[in-house]
Parts: sequence; structure tokens; C-alpha cells
Amino acid sequence: MRRITTALNTAYTKVNYKQSTNNYAAHYRLQQQRFATLSASASTCWNCQKQQQNMICASCGSLQDVNNQINYFELLSFPTKFTMQQQELTQRFRQLQARVHPDKYSNKSDREQSNSADWSSLINKAYKTLATPMERGQYMLQLEGEQMPQDNSALNKEFLMDMMERNEEVEDAEDAATLQQLNVQLLQELEAHAQKLHGHFEAKDLVAVKATLVEMKYLLSIQASIKQKQQQLLGS
Ligand SMILES: [Zn+2]
Repeated sequence: MRRITTALNTAYTKVNYKQSTNNYAAHYRLQQQRFATLSASASTCWNCQKQQQNMICASCGSLQDVNNQINYFELLSFPTKFTMQQQELTQRFRQLQARVHPDKYSNKSDREQSNSADWSSLINKAYKTLATPMERGQYMLQLEGEQMPQDNSALNKEFLMDMMERNEEVEDAEDAATLQQLNVQLLQELEAHAQKLHGHFEAKDLVAVKATLVEMKYLLSIQASIKQKQQQLLGS
């Protein structure tokens, strides 16, 4: 039991350490973004000097410099809401990628070629962030100027005990069917957590948002253990 607790905590700290450095940078950018959108809602096209707000200038059609401060939801034309239609998201992502695809700009100026690569990578990043409930939730939390907690204080003991037992179940599982069963249960719980997150964001209850995200992190770590064990079984 003690071994598992330590393992869980170590896994959690590792994930958090990496995330906290990323979060800090993202947070800083978001603060800048708020400032930027307040001070300038439109910019000037680098080519024709006309005022415009789009990726592609409405007057001369040239691809604008990347706006790293753009809100990912806005970039993909969604309202900033937790509930996300996955198919719709993928469709808009592909449409947007097609508009800035480097092949389209191979005969254009250096500036447009480099802009096309920059937009392309930003759109990828935005898509990846919005596509998974966990990352989408963390991103929305950052938009509210908040961070994921760095410790377990948001969790209740009962949940932690439950997670330890679940981890033991994975360790003790000896066949694919048992692992599959554990995985199905986890998927259901993750889905239920995503539903809860939606409610908490709607209610603007950020304390509950954080607690739910931390719980999801634990569930995802158990899911990773299941996958690992499934692969071990396949390999043996
Ligand atoms: Zn222009």
C-alpha cells in the first residue's frame, strides 16, 4: 500500500512539475493577451497597411503574422465553453489548416511562407489543447487566471484511498479481460468527470473545477497504468 502511495505521488509530482512550467508561460501569455485585446482589437496589414483583424487580409489577401496571443476557442470559431462537439472541432481544424497550408504559400514571399508555418503550428497546438477534456479544462482555468493546484489538498481522503485500491487492482490483474473491464469502468468515470466539469464551468465554480481536474489527473494516470499492463501482456 505504501509503495503504491509513493508511486502515485511521484507520478503526480512529475506530471505537475512539467505542467507548472508550461502553465506559467501560458498564464503569462494570457495576461498579455488580455492587455493586447484591450489596447488593440484590430491591427494593420503588413502588406497593404489597411486595418484588419483576420488571419488573411480582407483587402489584399496576404497572410498576416501569427497572433500567438489569440484565444484557442476564437481561433477555431467556438464559444469559450467546455462542452465541445468533437467532430465539429476536427472539421474546423482541417478547414483552418487548409487555409494556411505551407503548400499554398510555396510561391509566395518569405514572410508569408514563414507565417504559414507559424499559423500551422499554432492551429495544431490549439486543436490538441481543445480536443482532450483534461487539457481543455486546464486551458479554460488559465483563461480565468487560475492554475491547477500543486498538491493533493483539493482531494478528499476517500478518493485517494479509492485510487490506491484501483491501482492495486491494475497491478493484480492477470488477464486481458480483467484489464479491459477496469478500462471500461475508467472511461465511464472520465466521462462523468467531464460532465461535472461542464457544470462547474457553467456555474463558474473554479474551486470545484480544480478538484475535478485533479481527480481526472489521477484517473488518467491509472488509465496509463492499464495501457502499460495491457502492452506487457501482449508482449509476453
Ligand atoms: Zn492587406
